[in-house]
Amino acid sequence: MPEINRKTAIKTIKILAAVLLVIFTLAIEYLPGTPSWDDIYAAAGLRTKTIKDFSLSDLTVVYLDVGQGDCEFIYTKDTAILIDTGPYGNAQKIKDLLRDFGLTKINYLIITHQHDDHIGSLPDLEQMVEIENRIIPDENTKMSGITLTLPVDGDEDMTLRFLGPVYKNDSLNNMSLVIKLTYKETSFLFTGDAEADEEGTLLRTYDAEVLRSDVLKVGHHGSDSSSTPAFVSAVAPRYAVISVGADNDYGHPCRSVLTTLASAEIHRTDLEGTIICTTDGSALTFYNTK
Ligand SMILES: [Zn+2]
Ligand SMILES: [Zn+2]
Repeated sequence: MPEINRKTAIKTIKILAAVLLVIFTLAIEYLPGTPSWDDIYAAAGLRTKTIKDFSLSDLTVVYLDVGQGDCEFIYTKDTAILIDTGPYGNAQKIKDLLRDFGLTKINYLIITHQHDDHIGSLPDLEQMVEIENRIIPDENTKMSGITLTLPVDGDEDMTLRFLGPVYKNDSLNNMSLVIKLTYKETSFLFTGDAEADEEGTLLRTYDAEVLRSDVLKVGHHGSDSSSTPAFVSAVAPRYAVISVGADNDYGHPCRSVLTTLASAEIHRTDLEGTIICTTDGSALTFYNTK
C-alpha cells in the first residue's frame, strides 16, 4: 500500500474508533434499560459500594468515611439529618450520599462542635445543598434537656435527645453535643469529641439507663482522652463505630480504647470505608462499603 494511502486508512480507523466510543458512551448514559457507568464499574469491582447496593429499612444511620473526622447521616422517609460534615473536602461526598438517597436537602444539620474535622466542609456544603434547620453550638451552648421528636414513615416517632453538654467547659471537645437517637427498641449515641470530663458529667447527671445505647459512635476518633471504662460500661454498646482516618498522625484509635470496647462489635471507617446501619426499630444490620 502506498505510504499516503496507509496513513489515510489509519486516520480513518482512528476517527471510526472515536465515533464508536462516543456512540457507546452516549448509549450507556442515555438509553433506558442500559447499565450506568456506576453499574459497570461495580460489576468490574472498580467502584466501592454505595447506599443503592443495600436494602434500606425504616431508619438508616450512615457513618460516612470522611478520613480523620466525623460525619453521620440519619435517614428516614420523612427526615434527613446530618451530624457534622467532616473536614474540608467532603462536601461533594455528602452531596453524592444525598443523591443516592434521592435527596437534595437536609432537614436538620447538627454540628457537635466547631473543630475543623467536624465543620470543615460546611461552607462548601451550604453552596451545594439546601439546609432547612441548623443546630450549630458555640463554646457557650448548653443543649442538655432538649429533645427533638420526629416522625418515621408517618406514624412511628424517633427522638433525638440532647444529653450534653451539661456544663460549660474550657475545652471545645468537652462542649461537644452528645445526642441519643431512639427509635422503638433501638438507640444510637453520638458523642462528637467528648472526652473524659464530659463523659464524667454525663455519668453524674444521668442514670446508666439513659446513656445505655445499642450503637456508640466512639468519642474523639478512638483517642484515649475519651471512652473511659466507666462511661463505656454505662453505655454498654453492642456495636461501636470509630470514625477515623487511615494512618492518621494521632495514632487513633488507641489500643487501650479498643480494649475498653472489647465486648462490643467494633466497626472502623479507616478499615471499612463508609459504614451503614439499618434498623426496623428492633434488629440492627451493619454494612460497609469496602
Ligand atoms: Zn474530632
Ligand atoms: Zn474536636
